[in-house]
Formats: sequence, structure tokens, C-alpha cells
Amino acid sequence: MLKKYPSVLLIYTGGTIGMIENPETGALENFNFDQLLRHVPELKRFNYRISSYQFDPPIDSSDMEPSFWAKLVKIINYNYDNFDGFVILHGTDTMAYTASALSFMLENLSKPVILTGSQLPIGTLRTDGKENLITSIEIAAAKDNHGNAMVPEVCIFFENHLMRGNRTTKINAENFNAFRSYNYPPLARVGIHIKYEPHLIRPTDKLKPLIPHYLFDTNVVILTLFPGIQERVVESLLKVEGLKAVVLKTFGSGNAPQKPWFLNLLKDATDRGIIIVNITQCSSGAVEMERYETGIHLLESGVISGYDSTPECAITKLMFLLGHGLTNKEIRIKMNSCIVGELTKQRR
Ligand code: ASP
Repeated sequence: MLKKYPSVLLIYTGGTIGMIENPETGALENFNFDQLLRHVPELKRFNYRISSYQFDPPIDSSDMEPSFWAKLVKIINYNYDNFDGFVILHGTDTMAYTASALSFMLENLSKPVILTGSQLPIGTLRTDGKENLITSIEIAAAKDNHGNAMVPEVCIFFENHLMRGNRTTKINAENFNAFRSYNYPPLARVGIHIKYEPHLIRPTDKLKPLIPHYLFDTNVVILTLFPGIQERVVESLLKVEGLKAVVLKTFGSGNAPQKPWFLNLLKDATDRGIIIVNITQCSSGAVEMERYETGIHLLESGVISGYDSTPECAITKLMFLLGHGLTNKEIRIKMNSCIVGELTKQRR
């Protein structure tokens, strides 16, 4: 019988991992994927079938758009039966947005989709890219004793930590340890061994077919509160034509100014059908609107809780739900529910 080698599809979108320094300007520019692979001869030592697909041209992830997320989903869907797992090389700047978006777009995912990148280009001597790439490939191919994928989720692997993608945030523009998942523990830690945490990994039913989704509605905005925020600024933002949803980044456990003009503007917006989701500006912890009077006032104004969602997850989830033509009520219910492990509802 023919031996079946583990198989991984590498998708290169761009980002520092595949960049090279322009000798004249000193700026980092994208270079060709084959050149990138030449810098990782270790890949040949894997007993895996590794195929690749590259974005042409590769993009800096600051140029990431929902249309590129749709392209990624198309590539994964098209190749789904032919590979054990997928590794997406991506710029770090918006990696957490892409990971969150893909987690909603790939319904019934039963194979690993691992996003990774690096802080230093793969061609540089001290690069973190090699380690991130090699370990991501190993994780994408890993199976348990029953032959099922160890981590059938969209994840970010960076600097020895495998994190659930829609729980992850970029927190450092300098250190190799650039990502954190503050509100959910890592799914695996990497040292001498890769230590998976099966009880933290979402169970999946591999008999259910993958259902790819592609649509987004970008009529949304993130509004960060600060002491001194002006009425006319909030008013003009909430009255932007076509606006459908707002992620409101509040203080602490979901608190906001109690000024009547502020609450009236929120109430007016929710009455007009705009969905306002409350998440905290704190990196860790959750919104509890029932805890303080200020939170209660937000609830009375029609604002809903985003619990412990990251901003990246809250905004992509809203765009995803709005894109699928759900009613206002359905979106409010889904924003308050955990669909793919993206939030924790506290037990009372
Ligand atoms: N600007 C780059 C990007 O996100 C940074 C990186 O890859 O780390 O594409």
C-alpha cells in the first residue's frame, strides 16, 4: 500500500517574513516566495508533501481587505480534501483580524489553519520566521491517535505559542513575542515538545462538510471613548450615512460617560437600528454591564455586550453577520453568543 505522507498547503500572502531590505532605501520590500523557501532548506527535511500558493503581488498586511479573506477561503475550500492542514504566511499587523474573520468564514472546519509570520525577514540571520514557519507546518500536519487533526481550528502560531485566532491580538511592534491571547489560554506551548491542550481545543465533527462563507458588510466603525470626547464628534460619527454597527471601546468592565447627550445619542442610534457592541479598552477581562450604574445606562440605551471579545474579533464578526443579511434581532443574538470559541459568557 502507498504510504500517505502528511500534506500541508502553504499560502503566502506577504508580510515581513518574506521581505528583503532594499539596499538603496533601506525599506523592507516583498520578495518572491521561491526565494523565501530557499532560505529555509530545513523544509526539505520534513517527510511531508508541502505545496505552496502565493499572492501575486504579495501584500503588506496593512492593505488587507475582506476580498483577500474571501480569496484565502476560496483557496482553502478548493484544496480542502487534498491537504491535512494549511499554513498562511501573513504580515503581523493585521494577522489577528484575518484569523478572526477566517474563523467565522470556515464553518465546520475540521483541519488546522495556522497563521504565522515574523518580526524579522526570513533571510536575516536572527530571524524568528524560520522557527515560526517550521513549527506551524508541524502543527498543521499533527494528528491524534485516531487520525484526526490535533487542532482543527484557525490559529495564530507565534514565538512558541499556539493561540486561538479569534482570541489573539498583536501587542508588540518590537519583540518576537508579538501576540497574546489574554482571555483564552494557549492551545499548545512549544519547547522541546509541542504540548497540546486537547481540553481547550474546540471539538469538531469531521463528517460535516466545510461550508465556506465569503460575504462582509463594512459599514461599521470602532469608537474608542476617552475623557473629553466631544458631542459633535460622537454625533457626526453615529449619523454617518449607511452606518450599521459600532464597536464601542469603553472603560474597565464596560463603563462609559453618563452625560445625557451621550446616552441620548446612543439610544437614538440603536432606535435607528444601529447595533452597538460594548467591549473594554482593557487588554484582559470582560464587559459586565450590570455591574455599575454607568453600564446599566448603556444597556438601557440598547447597547449590547461583547463580553471578552477582542476588538479584531468584534468588528470582523459584525461585518460577517451584517454581510449575511441577518435581521437586527438575529445579529444582536449572535453577537451575544459564542459561535466559534470567540467569547466567554460569564456564569452568574
Ligand atoms: N507591515 C508588516 C505587515 O503586517 C509587518 C509584519 O509583517 O510584521 O505586513
